[in-house]
Amino acid sequence: MARILVVEDEQDLASLVEYNLRSDGHQVDVAQSGASGVSKFKATRPDLVLLDLMLPDISGTEVARLIRGADGKRTPIIMVTARGEEADRVKGLEMGADDYVVKPFSVKELLLRVKNVLRRQEDAPAKPAAVLKAPGIVLDTDRHEVRVDDKPVVLTHMEFKLLRTFLERPGRVQTRETLLSDVWGIEADITTRTVDTHIKRLREKLGAQGDCIETIRGVGYKLVTP
Ligand code: CA
Repeated sequence: MARILVVEDEQDLASLVEYNLRSDGHQVDVAQSGASGVSKFKATRPDLVLLDLMLPDISGTEVARLIRGADGKRTPIIMVTARGEEADRVKGLEMGADDYVVKPFSVKELLLRVKNVLRRQEDAPAKPAAVLKAPGIVLDTDRHEVRVDDKPVVLTHMEFKLLRTFLERPGRVQTRETLLSDVWGIEADITTRTVDTHIKRLREKLGAQGDCIETIRGVGYKLVTP
């Protein structure tokens, strides 16, 4: 299975998570501070990192930044946050975390997230596909065409880019800020409200399939995967 680094300072929780990941067949390393998390990352090169945001020395977002800086293969990170750390969660997702769980979480939920993130990593194509699909939706990047339930749908340039971004990142939460920088370009002089307006219009144009773009309250959006 996979090699997983757990960065968590609460010893009981770290042991529980470690035990369950091992039972699932994974190889697990535990770090109880941010600094040791970064050095263990460099030493073990794990396939996945479970990263607590509230650490005794440096913050989880800083650990994520340091890991990203030392990481050629873009190892997936699942952030572990306490309820009410919404600003941190958004920051963490911007930092490139792939998913997050909120404490207190069930072990079953955590194992499922781990499984999903690892599977996404395996499925990730080496180069971007020309035709992207979701149930009822086909987007052809070469022809610049979108079909919904087999009928052509005309999208504006930005709506097309927005839909393409979602289709390329199925099941991954996209913050408004990420969408702004990836779809509109970081220098665009517009606010996050623009994202909401475009999402609304895109949903309308997708008609019966519009629900595939789910709102994650206070964070952003994601493409629902079947
Ligand atoms: Ca903690």
